[in-house]
Amino acid sequence: MTVERRDYFVDVVLPLALPNLYTYRVPQALNDQILTGQRVIVQFGKNKLYSAIVARVHSDVPKYTAKFIENIIDDKPVVTEKQLAFWDWMAQYYMCTRGEVMIASVPTGLRLSSETKIVLSSSWDGLRDTLDDESYSLVEALELRNVLTLEDIEAILDRKTVYPLIRKLIDADVLMVYEEIKERFRPKYESYIVLSERYSVEEELKKLFDRLEKKAFRQLEALMAFLHLSGKYSGVESPVKRADLISELKGESGALNSLLKKEVLIQTEVEVSRIKKTGVKTHEATLSEHQSKALDKIQSDFKEKNVVLLHGVTSSGKTEVYTRLIGEQLNARKQVLFLLPEIALTTQLIVRLQKHFGDAVLIYHSRFNEQERVEVWNEVRKEKPCVVIGARSSMFLPWGDLGLVIIDEEHDPSFKQQDPAPRYNARESAIWLSRLHGAKTLLGSATPSVESYYNAKHGLYGFAELHERYGGAVLPEIIVADIKEATRKKLMKSHFSPLLVERVTEVLKNGEQVILFQNRRGFAPSIECQSCGHIPHCIRCDVSLTYHKHSNQLKCHICGYATSQPQQCEACGTTDLKLKGFGTEKIEEELSIVFPEARVARMDLDTTRGKYSLQRIIDDFETGKTNILIGTQMVTKGLDFGNVALVGILHADQVMNYPDFRAHERAYQLMAQVSGRAGRREKKGEVIIQTFNPHHFVIECVIKNDYNAIYHSELADRMEFHYPPFYRVMRVTIKGKEATLVDNGSHHLATQLRQHMGARVLGPEYPSVSRVRDEYLKNILIKFEREANSAKWKEIIGKLIVDFKTHPDFKKLRLVVDVDPA
Ligand code: ADP
Ligand code: ZN
Repeated sequence: MTVERRDYFVDVVLPLALPNLYTYRVPQALNDQILTGQRVIVQFGKNKLYSAIVARVHSDVPKYTAKFIENIIDDKPVVTEKQLAFWDWMAQYYMCTRGEVMIASVPTGLRLSSETKIVLSSSWDGLRDTLDDESYSLVEALELRNVLTLEDIEAILDRKTVYPLIRKLIDADVLMVYEEIKERFRPKYESYIVLSERYSVEEELKKLFDRLEKKAFRQLEALMAFLHLSGKYSGVESPVKRADLISELKGESGALNSLLKKEVLIQTEVEVSRIKKTGVKTHEATLSEHQSKALDKIQSDFKEKNVVLLHGVTSSGKTEVYTRLIGEQLNARKQVLFLLPEIALTTQLIVRLQKHFGDAVLIYHSRFNEQERVEVWNEVRKEKPCVVIGARSSMFLPWGDLGLVIIDEEHDPSFKQQDPAPRYNARESAIWLSRLHGAKTLLGSATPSVESYYNAKHGLYGFAELHERYGGAVLPEIIVADIKEATRKKLMKSHFSPLLVERVTEVLKNGEQVILFQNRRGFAPSIECQSCGHIPHCIRCDVSLTYHKHSNQLKCHICGYATSQPQQCEACGTTDLKLKGFGTEKIEEELSIVFPEARVARMDLDTTRGKYSLQRIIDDFETGKTNILIGTQMVTKGLDFGNVALVGILHADQVMNYPDFRAHERAYQLMAQVSGRAGRREKKGEVIIQTFNPHHFVIECVIKNDYNAIYHSELADRMEFHYPPFYRVMRVTIKGKEATLVDNGSHHLATQLRQHMGARVLGPEYPSVSRVRDEYLKNILIKFEREANSAKWKEIIGKLIVDFKTHPDFKKLRLVVDVDPA
């Protein structure tokens, strides 16, 4: 009798930047367990173990002697076939390796390797009865030593295949993967109160009023206070923070507790970052006529197109339209991905969506720790209907039945990953992901990217519009303050024009709020010696150092280098140093001098590093604890405050002098978006733009809210200078510690490229910042026609890059490819 003995091989993706997949052999004993998408343990390099993902199972004998895989970690695949296809596409399109895509995709909690550090899970219940002997001894070892690497564990258990056991214990929440970056803040829970579904019906509520009036007057008072705070009678209903309600009730919680006990009101615990299991659902708001029309248009366009662009002015109620579409998908038991710029992922929005979808809402972004990421990963993997609200990395989740992708603020530059590879654009990638799943994509923005608008106008995408703000709110009036004139006449009060001072004073007097936008953080962007003109620069980068008053330091905003503020000029030794320019920190200080009675908050990278600090700033502004919010572009994104009467843009010229072909597009987007924060309810808002160029074309477009004018002017420029949407752009950056080598290397590569692509190749040239972290940089720009077969070009470029990397003269250089740079 002969038994067929087949030899199986697997091609795996290793979490390393390897150009090819690696092939291993499957031990016969594992033949009927091996599956695509599973994690396997393999040895790679000298004695290093990694968990790799099986991309293909086959019986083609490789040319080299394949090593055996050590073991299989999972019973079921953790990565789906569609994900693998997505990784392939991304690696090919963005010219990187599948290993790099894998690292970006899979939470480290799922990427065990010999160096992975394991600790006891902070939420383990400590019950040992259920542990087997090996697990027991492992727990004991961890109690003694706190942290163990997988190598340590192999030694303790005296065997090589510990991964499956570790995985089981991680799943059982006994162990977890240790993170180097520890959370600086403990999670903060907040209690929110909502009206129960039963009493959301007007009639029931009236009956309840009558009953309480007779028997429980205190409870009636508490209920009224709740309804008032929830905005029930002003049209915009939202959950009420328990703390706010209690303070409204003068610290008395008895009546509130009775209402909770009777389930008139319902309390839920919301963890600010990790909002789950809230189960709150209330009834839906009715769409306005405009919203209904836009929704209909989107739905009918989806019948013919995969992608639709919703162009809706700020505060037109786009979120409400999204909500309907999400609801439809969940009813059809499908999954939805709702992508947002990281910074727009605030509780404001999350609470709004939870009101509609309760438990089905999952959140995924970089402020999450690994444990939390793995949890969301597993939830999505179960193919349950859900809506994931997330930043760009959430598109890498193991989608089962994806029905819809929404990309809000689709124009936002933060959808582009700059570093490390994959340097992907989340908007374009999500459109591809959606197509892979046979799903639809909705792009939304008040200021669409030129590319998306072009696609919509040329029939590639569907198109819907919302011209009006919701609830009859009108767009703010935009006024220009000529600071050249004001400076000449010596009328400026620090960096505020007389007009801005007057308006801020007025607005504060009315008890309303102000948002001020300044696109630079820190105190002053540079200090200059008054006698010799020397400006201190970063020792590693080619940029001037920014002065931070709070820490009394000079800091590099590129590499983070910091040094104490010098008393004398480093060059000539005199002490006559002058601060030049201004950042958010300086404005904050000046505000406290010019408006001593105002409470000011600052929102920029420096004040929002903690996990909850951003939320705190938003909460304080929302509840009126602060009157003026000063910030960088963070204040432009998605915030919805009802009481903001005035927005000030302190230095518009700075926004427009961006060294990039998207300068005008970006400047328009920033100014229009920040203006959109003003007057979002009944009262008309006001925007003051301070500038040296009151007649600048971009400013005129912002004033007239004329997106079309900026779009057409941009389009003409893009056509003339060969940029998207007409041309595709790729940037190759050569980096190295020796300037001449960088020169020679980049010149060599450019010459090679030119032989194949001719005038499509530009440069090499120094970028505006030509040295970063002690490395010199030189860019080669490649532009080719949109209709061209880009795969063909990429193949040629890819080959030349491999030649370059293996060229003996250029071993010391690094090379970075950026496809569709932003
Ligand atoms: P956008 O996302 O277009 O800037 P939002 O969705 O934030 O606008 O809507 C602006 C404001 O109007 C929000 O406070 C929102 O709650 C309110 N709103 C929008 N549509 C409705 C509706 N149909 N019913 C009640 N309130 C609405
Ligand atoms: Zn630096």
